[in-house]
Amino acid sequence: MDSGSQFAEHQTSLRGKEQQLHNNSALWIKDPLSILADAAERGVVIKEGRIAELVPAGRAPTISDTAIFEAGDHVVLPGLINTHHHFFQTLTRAAPAALDRELFPWLQALYPIWAGLTPEALELAATVAMSELLLSGCTTSTDHHYLFTKGLPEAIDIEIAAAKALGIRVVLTRGSMNLSQRDGGLPPDSVVQDEDTILADSERVIERYHQRGEDAMVQIALAPCSPFCSTTSLMRATAELAARKDVRLHTHLAETQDENRYCHELYGRRPLDYLEDCGWLDRRTWLAHGVHFTADEMARLARAGTSVSHCASSNQVLASGSCPVCDLEQAGVRVGIGVDGSASNDGSNLMQELRAAFLVQRGRYGVSAVGHRDALRWATKGSAACIGRPELGEIQKGKIADLAFFKLDELRFSGAGDPLAALVLCGAHRADRVMIGGEWVVEQGRIAHLDRHELIRRHSAAARRLQGLAV
Ligand SMILES: [Zn+2]
Repeated sequence: MDSGSQFAEHQTSLRGKEQQLHNNSALWIKDPLSILADAAERGVVIKEGRIAELVPAGRAPTISDTAIFEAGDHVVLPGLINTHHHFFQTLTRAAPAALDRELFPWLQALYPIWAGLTPEALELAATVAMSELLLSGCTTSTDHHYLFTKGLPEAIDIEIAAAKALGIRVVLTRGSMNLSQRDGGLPPDSVVQDEDTILADSERVIERYHQRGEDAMVQIALAPCSPFCSTTSLMRATAELAARKDVRLHTHLAETQDENRYCHELYGRRPLDYLEDCGWLDRRTWLAHGVHFTADEMARLARAGTSVSHCASSNQVLASGSCPVCDLEQAGVRVGIGVDGSASNDGSNLMQELRAAFLVQRGRYGVSAVGHRDALRWATKGSAACIGRPELGEIQKGKIADLAFFKLDELRFSGAGDPLAALVLCGAHRADRVMIGGEWVVEQGRIAHLDRHELIRRHSAAARRLQGLAV
């Protein structure tokens, strides 16, 4: 048995034991240092995976016989939700070939490297990305995996196994590319699949893995990579399949001016017009980036109920511009936060990403328009709405018990006044504890039974092999 399988087995038995505990008893998260919730000064009671009660100042829980977790050292947030990522890109962080390039040349430098992705490397990459996310206070992550090479037809299955081993909640998107250089697209022929293969596998992973219901731990969405990697026929067929199977749709849109030019040359339309032509302007769609929307386009997005994932760090690294978050929200568009792939960020730390969003948006709109609570809201309630999971992202009675706990005992926090503001302004980046569905997944800053050093060793070696560097 390899170390990955042993880890998965440990996690399964651990969760089984905790499940019994949670079915039989309630847990009072007592007297937190601070909590992002109204009328919960004395904490919350967790029962059967949900927030059963908020305990206001001067009161005790009405639910009796609770176990107690003393939270006096912790700032408690709803678990953070990541709305855009490409886990496999942890293997090409700071790749020399792609440094200091804008999106299109950046992609063209990386496609030939990514073409060598193997199942083992993907498992390691997904485990690294999700571990980073968990340790930053993230409880739900999406991933946009669009790389299905000949040796890697079952990428989504690999990612799901890795997510289950870690205990993180996921919405994994079955991505796709079928427009290669041969047909005027951006990616090389070796990394695309044909439409029939893509649709058949999309249907397979939905039927096999997609869970319905508020406590779903694994969901599937469908996600052609972008208008410059996917044909119109695939875009339309994917929207039809998503409607038939009642799953969500995701893609990149309005990321760069190059994309506007490309869409104009190829389709004679702006990207959003093209998306609408393909049947995608819909409530089930969320779009990564949304940097270059006009006021009219924002109104159309709002009317359709289409949401946007703001990826502040990635947009700055690739110099794509910045997402007009306040204008989008004012127009009525739901906005969440995404770290984006770890080759354009190059980290998967959602707490740091939330701070990046705060800085970029405050710089854009000013101090009266953007506060630390806005950034916290975007990464929690905003992200939950963005991906269509309103039962997540808030500390309220009846919501799912996904929580992140931060301590303020590091040098960076020393002297801080407002604990919630300190998380954003002093740059919190590591959660002390993380609870998902009422179960502890991170304790004392560690994921149980995960050998972090061994994971780094194996992942680094896989990354160097993929990048063609000496191992
Ligand atoms: Zn992306």
